[in-house]
Amino acid sequence: MTAVEYQGPGLPPLQPMDRSARIDRLRAALGRWGENGGVEAIVVHKPANIRWLTGFTGSNGLLLVTDEAVVAVTDGRYQDQIAAELAEAGVEATVEITITEIGRVLADHLGSRRRLGVESHHVTWRQHDDLAEWLPNAELVPLDKPLEGLRRDKDDGERSRLARAAAIADAALARVLPRLGSRPTERQMARALENAMFDLGADALSFDTIVAAGPNSALPHARPTDRVIEPEDLVVIDFGAAIDGYGSDMTRTFVAGGEPTPEQQRLWDAVREAQAAGVAAVADGAAERSIDAACRSVLVGHGLGDAFTHSTGHAIGLEIHEDPILSARAVGILRAGYVVTVEPGVYVPGVGGVRIEDSVIVGNGGCQPITHSPKQLAPLPA
Ligand code: ZN
Ligand code: ZN
Repeated sequence: MTAVEYQGPGLPPLQPMDRSARIDRLRAALGRWGENGGVEAIVVHKPANIRWLTGFTGSNGLLLVTDEAVVAVTDGRYQDQIAAELAEAGVEATVEITITEIGRVLADHLGSRRRLGVESHHVTWRQHDDLAEWLPNAELVPLDKPLEGLRRDKDDGERSRLARAAAIADAALARVLPRLGSRPTERQMARALENAMFDLGADALSFDTIVAAGPNSALPHARPTDRVIEPEDLVVIDFGAAIDGYGSDMTRTFVAGGEPTPEQQRLWDAVREAQAAGVAAVADGAAERSIDAACRSVLVGHGLGDAFTHSTGHAIGLEIHEDPILSARAVGILRAGYVVTVEPGVYVPGVGGVRIEDSVIVGNGGCQPITHSPKQLAPLPA
């Protein structure tokens, strides 16, 4: 467990990451998973889930969790790293370094337990066949996103990292925004933003920064190009910083020169209204699909329903798109502690696009945004 620390003015303090509490939650859930009375153990292959449970960040390895043991298996490249990361995380686990004896290690620790949960959404056919061959006495029970279900509910350590990452992104945007009107390229703007995030303490980027200007802004997942940003362009900037793997996510849309046309203003006002309606709908107990409906109904009312071509939001965490996804098809209920985005957008070919996105912590009776950059069409104070 890392100590509480505070770095720099204005950045939220980091809270400890209680990994043993996560392992306790996992063990408590085993009996609920799968049909016919749960599983007795689980083997975890997905790196983000291994990291969530143990702090280990290697790209190869697996984790066996039983009622008695936590066993981490990886190869020799990670021998020192896994020991250091588990110690840093305060996780007591048996570490096995092998590539040839994985089956024997799993069989030894599984003992007489029969029902073994497997991440059916992640393991490959070959990994499944290996498990079946290594563990002929076990019953492999397919589990769909079991850890991802637990990861929806962020703990204090996670929320504090997301909040700090978001604060870094806010500060980085404020630092580079004055350049937007001086005809940089999309790529130069993206690199400036990324450099500012690293200068301000980011460990990594949440995802590839989007700076999309003019016609490119009508592409929801545009990549920065060498196109010069002209003063009359709509510019969509979607980006995030990461702290300990936890990535923030925010989008703002500007007119580079600060003077929008009536049509640009109309699109932006509609998205701003939709986004506010979506944020206002987020609360403990709200249906996930109701957030999408809140945004979509505003845009439909402005005649822009067909221009809103993606879902409204997603959870953030160790992965940039985590469950729940806030779409019209979502079937779940938001719970206090989830951290989700609300990001309606409209995309009009030839004119451009507008997207506004905040990340918010779901609470009782409402939500608390962790992204705070001002929402305005002009990149500079009027
Ligand atoms: Zn985003
Ligand atoms: Zn997003």
